[in-house]
Amino acid sequence: MNQNIRNFVIIAHIDHGKSTLADRLLEVTHTIEKRKMKEQLLDQMELERERGITIKMAPVRMEYKEYILNLIDTPGHSDFSYEVSRSLAAVEGAILLVDATQGIQAQTLANFRAAKEANLKIIGAINKIDLNPEKTEDLIIEIADLLECAPEEIHKISGKTGEGVEDLLKDVIEKVPEPKAKTSKSSRALVFDSFYDNHKGVVASVRVFNGSFKNGEEAHFAAAGEKLKIKEVGIFAPELKAAQGLQEGEIGYIATGVKDPKKVKIGDTVMERTGGEALSGYKEPKPVVFVSFYPEDADEHEELSTALQKLHLNDSSITIEPDKNEVLGRGFKVGFFGRLHFEIVTERLKREFDVGVVTTFPTVAYRVKTKGEWKEIINPSDLPNEYDEIEEPMVKTEIILPEKCLNDFFKFQAKFRLSSIETETAMDRVIIRASMPLAELMSDFDDNLKSLSGGYASFSYKLIENKKSDIVRVEFLVAGEKVPGLSRFFHKRTYEKEARKMIKRLKDLLPKQQFPQAVQAEALGRIIAREDIKAMGKNVAGHLYGGDRTRKMKLWKKQQKGKKKLKERAQVQISPEIFRELLKK
Ligand code: GDP
Ligand code: MG
Repeated sequence: MNQNIRNFVIIAHIDHGKSTLADRLLEVTHTIEKRKMKEQLLDQMELERERGITIKMAPVRMEYKEYILNLIDTPGHSDFSYEVSRSLAAVEGAILLVDATQGIQAQTLANFRAAKEANLKIIGAINKIDLNPEKTEDLIIEIADLLECAPEEIHKISGKTGEGVEDLLKDVIEKVPEPKAKTSKSSRALVFDSFYDNHKGVVASVRVFNGSFKNGEEAHFAAAGEKLKIKEVGIFAPELKAAQGLQEGEIGYIATGVKDPKKVKIGDTVMERTGGEALSGYKEPKPVVFVSFYPEDADEHEELSTALQKLHLNDSSITIEPDKNEVLGRGFKVGFFGRLHFEIVTERLKREFDVGVVTTFPTVAYRVKTKGEWKEIINPSDLPNEYDEIEEPMVKTEIILPEKCLNDFFKFQAKFRLSSIETETAMDRVIIRASMPLAELMSDFDDNLKSLSGGYASFSYKLIENKKSDIVRVEFLVAGEKVPGLSRFFHKRTYEKEARKMIKRLKDLLPKQQFPQAVQAEALGRIIAREDIKAMGKNVAGHLYGGDRTRKMKLWKKQQKGKKKLKERAQVQISPEIFRELLKK
């Protein structure tokens, strides 16, 4: 084992300066020459660079004096908590970075806890000191309390000017333990990420825990049960750089030649021999939020399909199944880890593949018990007419708010069905812990929190066990015809209100016809709301004043017949444009 290796991560709340610090580390270690440096070098996705957020940085290997430093990233956000845990399992240390002007935020706490659980050596640093923030000293004490260390141990840095960065790096070398081998008969490496390369197939980003891996060797994935012949191993320089082998303690990549991204799973163990024990902590990825995707233009079904398949190569965690809708045509039901995950994928579809999509309301998976048997249901249309009970997925959320917003926050308690609320005061902020249904979190919780706090609130969450709930399916009818694509699940407390809202929107959006149309909502076997759209008041015979009565009668008759015909085609009156409008928040 090379004693001069240090493997670490930077953990931070979004925008606290992770990428900027990584840039400075690349410079200090001369990994990238200054003239080649562009900002946020490790943010590879166009989306990240443009929005200035880091979803995930590329891993990088740096050299500093006689040391090899491997910096890998965690996708910080709660949606990816399992992947975060696997990144943390691949290293020995973490820099916990806090923006001096923002203080400790929800993701700071959530990431800190995950790092502590992974037994990492955590080094605290406050960033952006070039801005001369006011309460730096108080914040240092707060962070030191959290880390249970002396305030002097917290670094003061600026990722912008580079101040304090080299000292921080020296501290990482000094304090983060060297990698230690775990006992094993087989060579083993943990897959903490994977991506697709046109030439190399699926490439697994790995941390070697035992033995070594070389080109041409046979190996297998423990959880996936998939054999592979290693096509190439190498390091992140940060571009892929082939190497002779990957040794114990090192971080690098293994090109698997595997074409199906589903077979390379995050958290899986690459093992050289069969029969050995896999590394612990593997979990089957499980999407919890589902959204149907339809091409904006029905002819573009093929394009959408190809784009989703390609995206899937680099994000094996999404699930894709065919779906169809009476108005929007053929599409796909896609499963995600959470709302941010869904937003990222949608945005990438638009940017990287130039495919316009219409997406339906996000829905969660309900568990329904019928005649003693449990079944998972995502589509409202799959709900049986009779059942014993329904359970819905729940989350435990942690929210950090300025204290003065607390009263406003409590106004949301009922709307978002918050329960088991606990509060804790920390300086001028409050930490709120509460349970809530995942379905509520997926609605506009985020936006509400932002607006009530002027952007100063933050939250994290984790899934907890399901809970029995009063869920009602609401179906919508236009001119007597059900429109299955509009069916939704609501909670019993709000379903009538939500149904009325939807009916009103339908009424406003649907064009008038030559016949009156009823717009209705049905739930629990009865009509719970109704609006009527009046017929277009076109007087077809108006211009024939005077005389010719038979001619008038003829026209009226014709009109009646036409109306009947139109009524038969009533369900096609919802155009994709109207559908899209309806789906907007
Ligand atoms: P990330 O989301 O954690 O990766 O954060 P970024 O590194 O993208 O930084 C977020 C914003 O803060 C960017 O606009 C950076 O330019 C800015 N920033 C980062 N570090 C510093 C710093 O030390 N001082 C100042 N003034 N701005 C910084
Ligand atoms: Mg960034």
